[in-house]
Amino acid sequence: MLEKVVIANRGEIALRILRACRELGIRTVAAHSTVDRDLKHVRLADETVCIGPSPAAGSYLNMPAIISAAEVTDAVAIHPGYGFLSENADFAERVEQSGFIFIGPKPETIRLMGDKVSAIRAMKEAGVPCVPGSDGPLGDDQPEILRIARDIGYPIIIKAAGGGGGRGMRVVHSEAALLTTLDLTRSEANAAFGNPTVYMEKYLDHPRHIEIQVLADTHGHAIHLGERDCSMQRRHQKVIEEAPAPGITPAQRRRIGQACVDACQRIGYRGAGTFEFLYQDGEFYFIEMNTRIQVEHPITELITGVDIVKEQLRIAAGAPLGYRQDDIHVRGHALECRLNAEDPDTFAPSPGAITQYHAPGGPGIRVDSHIYNGYRVPPNYDSMIGKLIAHGETREAAIARMRGALAELVVDGIKTNAPLHRRILGDARFLDGGTDIHYLEKQLLGTR
Ligand code: ADP
Repeated sequence: MLEKVVIANRGEIALRILRACRELGIRTVAAHSTVDRDLKHVRLADETVCIGPSPAAGSYLNMPAIISAAEVTDAVAIHPGYGFLSENADFAERVEQSGFIFIGPKPETIRLMGDKVSAIRAMKEAGVPCVPGSDGPLGDDQPEILRIARDIGYPIIIKAAGGGGGRGMRVVHSEAALLTTLDLTRSEANAAFGNPTVYMEKYLDHPRHIEIQVLADTHGHAIHLGERDCSMQRRHQKVIEEAPAPGITPAQRRRIGQACVDACQRIGYRGAGTFEFLYQDGEFYFIEMNTRIQVEHPITELITGVDIVKEQLRIAAGAPLGYRQDDIHVRGHALECRLNAEDPDTFAPSPGAITQYHAPGGPGIRVDSHIYNGYRVPPNYDSMIGKLIAHGETREAAIARMRGALAELVVDGIKTNAPLHRRILGDARFLDGGTDIHYLEKQLLGTR
């Protein structure tokens, strides 16, 4: 096993990684910013290293500082969590060149999947279904571009190859707007991502977001852990996730899961990863791959019994996967509500001191959160302060438990989005299951 791991992240995921390390007898180093001295995992870690000031650019995105933290503590590996440097191929490369283990895929895999055009090409070659589109970057030949769009059929969406976080894409409804929108997206992509490459896809008008969790070791074995439905979104940010996805049959799960496993083997994938799909009218369409642990991994853990973070650590240590595909069975249903420090009506961030905190509990409830009484939520980072996760034998049972958890939860001193979660959990269409990615904004909030 790994002897000592640097946790190069903060908040709930840093605590989650620390807990997995403890279970495996791995010593931990919390690499933290100045404002994060009082984070729960910093208090619990075996060692701590302050890597820089509160702005992430000087700390959680500071590659030399994080690598130095590994050097001065004699750690063997670095876990990047999610966000920050977790999908930065240059960082992974520098970590490995400095003689440490990067807990994630190989740098070249991160690079391949980080560019959406190369990712889609690789997935097509591997037999993964993709959205009908331009089959590569758009060039300068205007008649050719018009022809491609006509073949795909309007509406289409123009997307930046280097885009991320829901930015760098535009929908085009008719030929008249195509060329100007293309130019606009190109220059925006160049300014925002330093890469003007754009491509074109069919715009799906009522898709659900369904993703497949995979694990692959360094011995050529890969498995999938089924799917998650993350369609409840606001501004492309997931609000509630659930697993399994309502209405997906075991046969569909097996088919799309196997396609992802085959793709992992083909590209030599290593570690935990997620294939994201849009799902519409019974068909899956690949949109991108996340080459890291995801926020919503716990719901998959609850329905499969697999500890995904422990598997990441074991894989990084060179151990073979602890499971074969036949060992993986879906049991019951799980939901996750992302708890944010924000105004439930305006969505404005609400940092500050937490004066009262009571966490819910009871059968089937898991709370992944770093907050405590008196903890001050800093204004510098993402507003997520934790995740409420509920598991039950059926979807109805999981929803009932989540409602109970939301009723028990007390977070005073700051505003949270708990009222929004209570509202969604009472919504008739949500209770039916299978709402699309536009439902929350268009129908429930009426903001689009
Ligand atoms: P990002 O890397 O910015 O998250 P994605 O490619 O994952 O970009 O797309 C983000 C979101 O944009 C999707 O979840 C979906 O809501 C929307 N989207 C992307 N491609 C399409 C498409 N072809 N049709 C409809 N919506 C799309």
